[in-house]
Amino acid sequence: MPPKFDPKSPENASLISLFQGLGLAEKSATELVRQPKSGLAFKSLVDEFSLENNKYDEKTASALVKLSASSGKLGPAERGFIVKKIEIGDIKSSDQVTAAVKYAEGNPAGTPINEEEFNKACGVGIDITAAQLPELLRSYISSLPTAPENWAGLSAVLGGIRSGASDLKWANAGEVKSSLETIFTELFGTKEAAQAAAKAQATSAAKTKPAPKPKAAVASSSAEASSSTSPVIPTNIFREGFLSDFHKPGENPQINPKLKEQHLEFTKGMVYTRFPPEPNGYLHIGHVKAIMVDFGYAKFHGGRTYLRFDDTNPEAEEGRYFQSILETVRWLGFEPWKITYSSDNFDQLYQWAVELTRRGKAYVCTCSAEKMKADRGLGKGQPVPCEHRDRPIEESLREFERMKNGEYPEQGAALRMKMDLSSGNPYMWDGVAYRVKLAPHHRTGDKWKIYPTYDFTHCLCDSIENISHSLCTVEFIPARESYEWLCDALEVYKARQYEFARLNLQGTFLSKRKIAKLVNNKLVKDWDDPRLYTIIALRRRGIPPGALLSFVSDLGVTTSESVVEIQRFESSVRSYLEESAPRLMMVLNPIKLIIENVADDYRVPVQVPLHPKVPAMGTVETSFTKEVYIDAEDFREEDSPDYFRLAPGKSVGLFKAPFPVTCTSYSKDPVTGQVNEIRCRLEDTGNVKKAKAYIQWVNVPESIKIDEVRYFKPLFRSDPPPADFESDVNPESLEVYKNAVIEPAFYELSKKAILDARKESEERTKKAKKESSIKSPEESKAVEGSEASKHLEDEPVVTAEQLVGMENIRFQGMRLAYFSVDRESKIGCLDENEATKPGKKDGDKIILNRIVSLKEDSGKKA
Ligand code: ATP
Ligand code: MG
Repeated sequence: MPPKFDPKSPENASLISLFQGLGLAEKSATELVRQPKSGLAFKSLVDEFSLENNKYDEKTASALVKLSASSGKLGPAERGFIVKKIEIGDIKSSDQVTAAVKYAEGNPAGTPINEEEFNKACGVGIDITAAQLPELLRSYISSLPTAPENWAGLSAVLGGIRSGASDLKWANAGEVKSSLETIFTELFGTKEAAQAAAKAQATSAAKTKPAPKPKAAVASSSAEASSSTSPVIPTNIFREGFLSDFHKPGENPQINPKLKEQHLEFTKGMVYTRFPPEPNGYLHIGHVKAIMVDFGYAKFHGGRTYLRFDDTNPEAEEGRYFQSILETVRWLGFEPWKITYSSDNFDQLYQWAVELTRRGKAYVCTCSAEKMKADRGLGKGQPVPCEHRDRPIEESLREFERMKNGEYPEQGAALRMKMDLSSGNPYMWDGVAYRVKLAPHHRTGDKWKIYPTYDFTHCLCDSIENISHSLCTVEFIPARESYEWLCDALEVYKARQYEFARLNLQGTFLSKRKIAKLVNNKLVKDWDDPRLYTIIALRRRGIPPGALLSFVSDLGVTTSESVVEIQRFESSVRSYLEESAPRLMMVLNPIKLIIENVADDYRVPVQVPLHPKVPAMGTVETSFTKEVYIDAEDFREEDSPDYFRLAPGKSVGLFKAPFPVTCTSYSKDPVTGQVNEIRCRLEDTGNVKKAKAYIQWVNVPESIKIDEVRYFKPLFRSDPPPADFESDVNPESLEVYKNAVIEPAFYELSKKAILDARKESEERTKKAKKESSIKSPEESKAVEGSEASKHLEDEPVVTAEQLVGMENIRFQGMRLAYFSVDRESKIGCLDENEATKPGKKDGDKIILNRIVSLKEDSGKKA
């Protein structure tokens, strides 16, 4: 093993300090010394030409390092020639050094280098700025003998530029690539869309194969745009851990082997799951986990999932919940194979209740609620049988008929299962199968006066739907015994139930009853108030569905309950957006900055990349002008040594602007005492020093005013919120900024996000309708007499539009936070046709929601 590298050893330390003195950053100098060969090569170049007392800028020093590593074959004269060319700034980039060495190697020994030819071969004097690139690249492409036809042609064009004779090969390679990607996006649409189309083609080609296969490798979430309506479903939780360990379809034990045969005949060995919400409210963040487990497990195994509305409780249901639940499931990226209702099975369930009674395994009990409770040991001891338990079968059948006919008041009678009173599990103590309820039912009207309980309904609906894996949360563990008892008692197919831990979030609550109180007392705006953790609230706030999925998948699925901190949730959302959200310059509290030493019509076009690390997102153009807005936070009246932004006499860089500015003076509003104008000098002459910090800005003439920027803080002051949570609501949990401005590219970005989202959701919806057995309302109507045909008006429908909303417009306001557009906004250009250039319209109203901060402790800005 080589000895451990010690940067502090006297020898290494002196070499590092020598290299730093020459202009290398500490890190590069250390790295160089760590590699003994490269370090020595550079040291010998320095010695050879006595450079040790020189001071270069970092770029020049790096070029010399590159030369030292690649000029071993050259004679001292040639090497010295190139050193000079580097020192005077003729040779700058690493590509140029390579070209220079190559040229010098070809120079006949003993003859001096022809400088003119050398300059030509090495691109000396060619200075292409990022702003010039688009035009140069366009004309380069049009000069090619075969023009690229799609994204696949990108690398050929890049390769041609590098190896070809055009000046473009001397431009900054990263800028060339990013600019070229923007041009390709204009020509062929986004890279993501092209990839998706190619993938779709590949899958439709693969469709000819018969058996469904588990989904292959996961696409990384960074592959999707933040506006996407088809999030990538993570698969790691199905490949390892709790969810990877379940039985294969058909392997779940049955009381009679014939049941297994019938089951497999229906499923053909596929996985069948269901997501069974009770339609009594909006879904919350905990349901994301259940949806992901139920739908994701089946999808991973090439199976199918029912969205089953567990609507056996007539009082609690409302039409709006059905539609919202379907929308939410789809928004999260899943498509139900079929939408069903427990209530569709009321006839079958009733017949089974009669059959169970006939088999001597159920009886009608007319004890009062108190008596029943006392018989069951009041939750303390073993239960005792009530006097109805052994009544004759005929009598129970007759009484059950009377219950059905409405001859009993509510709570007057119940059909109870005759289970096992000696069991240690209270679920086996003759649980109730049917009770009397006189309220009309959402779907079946007043046809029924009796309704089945959850314990009676759930396992039997699973049986009817041939569910292979019935996945639910851990509080149902004790219920599993009764679940299996009932299927066996009736000798019907029995699904296998598995239980996973619920998802709980700290500092807030998910209870529908409590949220309803907040809504009714107007302490929040509505069920989708972004301070809540209902899924519609998370959606409105701008959290992308893919971020929710990766949050749940990163937590993992196990059987042990835990409470997750809000910070963990936010950090998951943040890292998701970090890669997928484009960035715009936006100023929350604007102050006008006036550049004194430029003309009134000063205007320099500036290309700003939408994402520094994802060039495929492209760039947007803005103009740098005499007057720009900067954030009040980025100016201080009193300077200090640890402060790097603007203060009197101090310079700061304006992101992507050509030169830094230095503050010369400022003025204050005489009434408020607030700084309201800053005057600066543009440092565009002489030896321009690199700025220590860069701040965002928006040019005044083109700035777009944002009507409201909404920042959300925890809704409650206490964590956890107290029982009297209504008085604990933090009145400052919603903070509104009314003066913010943003660059005009906001419109371009918004329109693109919405158009992309619409296209994507249309394709997805078309495909889903083809692959599922979900009918349109018209088709349902055609099946005359069907239950669905009677409930058309409130049948939830699958549409492309339900996946698209203002919240699809997501971006990072540079140095501020991640934002999305609130649904209360109005942006006229989104409804214009595709070709129209987007921009401001009369009546526009822009409201932004802060999705999440850029850093965890964003309260105090650096
Ligand atoms: P709540 O009363 O909190 O709304 P619930 O259990 O009554 O919850 P349902 O609509 O009946 O909600 O549940 C649908 C499915 O979602 C069930 O399988 C349930 O286990 C699951 N689920 C509900 N809450 C959570 C949670 N916090 N974490 C994981 N899964 C959950
Ligand atoms: Mg419930």
